[in-house]
This record gives sequence, C-alpha cells and structure tokens, in this order.
Amino acid sequence: MHEYSIVQALIDQCEELAVTNKASSITKVVVKIGKYSGVEPHLLQIAFETFKDQTVCKHAEFVMSIQPLVIICSDCQQESVLDQPHYICPACESHSIRVTDGEDMMLMSLEMEA
Ligand SMILES: [Zn+2]
Repeated sequence: MHEYSIVQALIDQCEELAVTNKASSITKVVVKIGKYSGVEPHLLQIAFETFKDQTVCKHAEFVMSIQPLVIICSDCQQESVLDQPHYICPACESHSIRVTDGEDMMLMSLEMEA
C-alpha cells in the first residue's frame, strides 16, 4: 500500500528530528494532507498506528489537517480555493493557473519530550 511507504518515510523523518533535538519520544505528529495529494487519510492513519510501535513515535498522537486545493491565476492574480480539481480560475475562467497548495503532504509540526 502506497500509504505504508509514506508513513515509513514520515517516521524516519521523526526519528531524525528526535535525535537532532535530543528527544526520547514524540508525543504528537501533525501532518498536512493535500486533498488531491493522492494520500488517503484513513489509510494513512491505519499505517501510522501499524508502524509506530517500535519507533520514537509509539506514544504519538497523529493529527491530520486536510488541505484543499489552492490555485493562483496567472491572468488576474486571484487566489482561489477549489472544491473540485477543475484547474480553472473561478474569477476569470482562465486556464493559466498555478497550484500553490493541496497536492502534497508534509510534516507540519512535532511535539516531543526529552
Ligand atoms: Zn483569473
């Protein structure tokens, strides 16, 4: 499953950050998941619960924040939040848009203890 490899990479990243910050455990992991990132939040949660046991994240709460699609129009410079992946500027109907958010997944913050 796609989500398993994402979680393994995420936990690796958490372990590195824990070492850097001399923390013994991570208590909270906050991730942002783009609505159109291709990541299924429910599966990601299951994958996290499955893999966290032997890691620095074993007591961590997993918090997901779902990020809608955000675009900026190259013609009218309007920034818009889209409910559907239509990739058209709602203000002027231009197709010259740039996606600025909602298509990726990233680690937003960690809480840890020494
Ligand atoms: Zn526009």
